[in-house]
Amino acid sequence: MNVERTQALEEVILNDTLSGLPKRDRIFEILSGAEDKGASLAADFIMRTDDEATTDYLAQYLELIPDAQSDKVRAAEKLRGDETLVRSAARLVPWLPDELLDGFVADYLTAADPNSPLADVLFTIAIHAPGRLRPVADKIDDRDMHRGMLSGAPDELVDAFREKWRREQDSSLLEALALIRTDYAADQIESLRDEIEDHPDWELLLELAGKLPDSEERAGYRPAYMGFLGEKNESPHTLGGAFAGDVPLCHECEAPAVRILTLEAKSLPFTLEHNASFFWYSCECGAMDSTTVRVGAGETVVYYGPSGPADPELSLVPGGERSLLLEEHRNQVGVSMEAVPGASWYQVGGLPQWVDTDRHPRCPECGSVMPFLAAIAGGSTRFGEFGYEGVLYGFWCDRCRVSSTKYQD
Ligand SMILES: [Zn+2]
Ligand SMILES: [Zn+2]
Repeated sequence: MNVERTQALEEVILNDTLSGLPKRDRIFEILSGAEDKGASLAADFIMRTDDEATTDYLAQYLELIPDAQSDKVRAAEKLRGDETLVRSAARLVPWLPDELLDGFVADYLTAADPNSPLADVLFTIAIHAPGRLRPVADKIDDRDMHRGMLSGAPDELVDAFREKWRREQDSSLLEALALIRTDYAADQIESLRDEIEDHPDWELLLELAGKLPDSEERAGYRPAYMGFLGEKNESPHTLGGAFAGDVPLCHECEAPAVRILTLEAKSLPFTLEHNASFFWYSCECGAMDSTTVRVGAGETVVYYGPSGPADPELSLVPGGERSLLLEEHRNQVGVSMEAVPGASWYQVGGLPQWVDTDRHPRCPECGSVMPFLAAIAGGSTRFGEFGYEGVLYGFWCDRCRVSSTKYQD
């Protein structure tokens, strides 16, 4: 039963001597051990409290667990009724029905203040459900929201950007076209190849739109999933934990890298034959911005740098080893808004949401440009903090069993 946890949570929430991160961490700890991962308890307390910080800790917690849609919807409906607390509803957007999202959009337009707490809700709508904003785009004056709304925009806008670019040769129009990320947008970038061949970014634009420049393959897998940290072995996809075999070593201090993520191929609908593993440096030298490794078949090959035995004591994942739970992403086209580092988001499949738009790496074995497979952003989790603050982007050549991991912050 959740009775004891309800009392424990009440004590922590009413305890005025406890505040900030210690309070949040204590709330997360109590909720994590509850039935249904604490979703109904977190929503119950959102219904009962009017304290801004407490409300946001509870909403943060709900954002970090998958599913539990009905609890998230009732929490968001309560928050919608308060002009300050409504900010925390931004965390629940991926799970809210279209009608409720439309309600938040209408509230934002009525508030007539672009800096109202409702703006946070609209930013998240621009990431997960940009189609809800497009009908009122001309009433929204915000550069980031407009960038988000490019995702999945209709073919007529692709055509308009293409023709305007032909007239004005302004390369920002091509980037906007690529950020629409539909198959049609990618086809148009591809068809412009002869016209923009001298453009140094042609390949980058095509990858951004969702196609690889040297093959007919897509730049990412379908469908796209949001990831959530689970207990060890709760899902077949492993975060952190000991890795048997050699790993990359830091070029400066020679500290061994650690395994960040292994995705189990047979548990994903991506037609992968091999489990994909991604690595990152455990030290804080910041000497490298990527690492490339061939894994499997009892051996590891590290490219472009030194390698050595893994240290089973090291981990960048809170608690040492966790698993990655997956839930289908609401935005299957690909997010166009720039990513925020350190914001605790995880993605498998789909197209990369970049902090700074960048190229996909090439596989050192076959020379092909590699598709994107996963992103793991650092930050707070319900089990503690990651050992890095930026975003790790994982690319995978399944033919050669080679992973390349890029870091941005
Ligand atoms: Zn180092
Ligand atoms: Zn390859």
